[in-house]
Amino acid sequence: TSFAHFGFDEQLMHQIRKSEYTQPTPIQCQGVPIALSGRDMIGIAKTGSGKTAAFIWPMLVHIMDQKELEPGEGPIAVIVCPTRELCQQIHAECKRFGKAYSLRSVAVYGGGSMWEQAKALQEGAEIVVCTPGRLIDHVKKKATSLQRVTYLVFDEADRMFDMGFALLFSATFRKKIERLARDILVDPIRVVQ
Ligand code: AMP
Repeated sequence: TSFAHFGFDEQLMHQIRKSEYTQPTPIQCQGVPIALSGRDMIGIAKTGSGKTAAFIWPMLVHIMDQKELEPGEGPIAVIVCPTRELCQQIHAECKRFGKAYSLRSVAVYGGGSMWEQAKALQEGAEIVVCTPGRLIDHVKKKATSLQRVTYLVFDEADRMFDMGFALLFSATFRKKIERLARDILVDPIRVVQ
């Protein structure tokens, strides 16, 4: 597979060329067409495999379609991840590729200023990259609304759940997570790289 197979438009291809990536990685070759098709997906790939771009590129395409269909407030895509560092890294990638369409990304994570993050959310962004607890705090305070979200990513989901286990040490929590994954994913395709 080459980048041409994905059918990205010139604006996105321009940003990808700027990255000097010569060809898509295996997780991108497999994952991008599935995500573009709108199917739910469970992707299993290591750090360094190019998995971040594999969910960001289809996300950008989806946002551009959705923005027209449903103009309004609040993010269209939410990426949930386990740590502040990962949040910042993913946010940087979103900004880099999001330039293709002048899309805005906001990072909200525990340990950062609630006030500054709330302000950024209220200014508006199509993409929110967050740690779970902090996103909930902002939603409770009505700094943002999730009603327009139609693209949801749990990055390093296994690690997030492990951290949950470490905090709660509860079998019921584990069951809840398993039920959640079953409830929210519709007939997911599993991609293992
Ligand atoms: P990740 O697996 O998302 O942590 O990505 C690891 C690194 O691979 C990042 O520094 C990306 O910039 C880089 N990367 C992503 N896609 C490609 C690609 N198609 N070719 C070369 N490098 C890439």
